[in-house]
Amino acid sequence: MGRIELNSVEKWFGDVQVIKGIDLQIDDSEFVVFVGPSGCGKSTLLRMIGGLEETSRGAIVIDGTDVTDQPPHQRGLTMVFQSYALYPHMSVRDNMGFSLKTAGAPKKEIADKVNRAADILKLGPYLDRRPKELSGGQRQRVAIGRSIVRDPTAFLFDEPLSNLDAALRVEMRYEIAKLHRNLDKTMIYVTHDQVEAMTLADRIVVLDYGTVAQVGTPKELYAHPANLFVAQFIGSPS
Ligand code: ADP
Ligand code: MG
Repeated sequence: MGRIELNSVEKWFGDVQVIKGIDLQIDDSEFVVFVGPSGCGKSTLLRMIGGLEETSRGAIVIDGTDVTDQPPHQRGLTMVFQSYALYPHMSVRDNMGFSLKTAGAPKKEIADKVNRAADILKLGPYLDRRPKELSGGQRQRVAIGRSIVRDPTAFLFDEPLSNLDAALRVEMRYEIAKLHRNLDKTMIYVTHDQVEAMTLADRIVVLDYGTVAQVGTPKELYAHPANLFVAQFIGSPS
């Protein structure tokens, strides 16, 4: 579970086309990174997959089901953003368990899932704190923890580390790589940071203003960039 297909997906804002017919197959448990310059459509494409943005044309298929017209909560995915949007008045524990609580899950199940996520993210000592008593990196971990407890089919990350300072960004990058190894779930990760893309991705999708410039493993893109745009973006020597 966690296979995501994009079939000739397009997005129009009024008469401006920002996604120009994208085809892509993402395998179960794959870590796929969307990279490209600011404004090239990374967030829009990710939000379409998550259902936060309507798809103008084409289809999005998850594990064989066409979800193009399904609302976000029916897609079994979760999104992690750069702004953590934690509830300030709630403890870390309650922030992480909130979605399960509103879905009516039993207390024991909520506690177990929150504890498991806290273990993975080393948040155990902080469960009774409020968000304002945490560092930026810890808050981002809580935001990720909140996603883990929902046991999604796939994780969608939109530049989750861009608010962190350089050292913390490196640390959290390792955390996310470890999370992927631990959970073995499909992850789609948007960034404009080449180093993040090269180190995290099984495959990189380079976007060039609404079209796919190239798809490949970090090695393939580095060794054989399809064109100058990709070469410059990936920073390969050719
Ligand atoms: P990225 O995440 O790669 O920086 P976005 O997906 O945010 O790019 O934006 C892609 C293009 O779509 C940009 O030109 C942006 O201005 C435009 N865009 C994004 N959201 C909207 C919107 N709600 N209405 C109109 N244009 C939008
Ligand atoms: Mg964006």
